[in-house]
Amino acid sequence: MPTSAERREQLKAVFSEARTCTRCPELARTRTQVVFGAGNADADLMFVGEAPGAREDERGLPFVGAAGKLLDELLGEVGLARDDVFIANVLKCRPPGNRDPLPSEIDNCQDYLLRQVELIEPRVICTLGNFSTKLLRADPTGISRLHGQAEIRVLGSRAVRLYPLFHPAAALYTRALLDTLRADFGRLPALLALAPPEQPERIERAAVPEPALAAAAEQPREPVPDAAPSGTPQLGLFD
Ligand code: URA
Repeated sequence: MPTSAERREQLKAVFSEARTCTRCPELARTRTQVVFGAGNADADLMFVGEAPGAREDERGLPFVGAAGKLLDELLGEVGLARDDVFIANVLKCRPPGNRDPLPSEIDNCQDYLLRQVELIEPRVICTLGNFSTKLLRADPTGISRLHGQAEIRVLGSRAVRLYPLFHPAAALYTRALLDTLRADFGRLPALLALAPPEQPERIERAAVPEPALAAAAEQPREPVPDAAPSGTPQLGLFD
């Protein structure tokens, strides 16, 4: 298990690599800068949005526009702040004109996200909207069917609780979506209070047969007990 300082250094190394990335020639040409992600490198909770917009591209930070304000507000309602979590996106560069990410761009960028997950080791990842939900579940099922349902998934070598949520940008314009997003957010503290998901190595060491592992990964909806959130150590990545 890396120390906080080691984890932060390793994340910075991935950021150094990403900031000069040219895997997507159009994005590399049109971006102001790479928006790697920001927050607490030791966070138990990570959010994954879609891609930077104009404000994020300008400032180099994720979710700093109107959707970000809503995200901050919803975090505050469950007793959390940005310093408690890590926020990243499927794409680290702004698609010109805020168009949808292309499949090739998602593919080119996913290694950075997986490395962020491996280094941060969150217990819970909230996917925000369709793009991150489809990517991290490796399945085309849309957010309307999946939101608010936690499931354990193995990403790279890490088992995490994935918790799909509507994208805050969508909730800005539709009252019903905002109510749903708020209600789903309300279940986050209890989700964070659950024991961390069993990691693949430990499952292997305990020689649990593969079907059990697959069943764990398929678990569609977890009961969420009433409990307080676990504390997360505070460490800003780019302080
Ligand atoms: N929307 C996203 O998905 N990500 C951001 O960083 C900002 C808006």
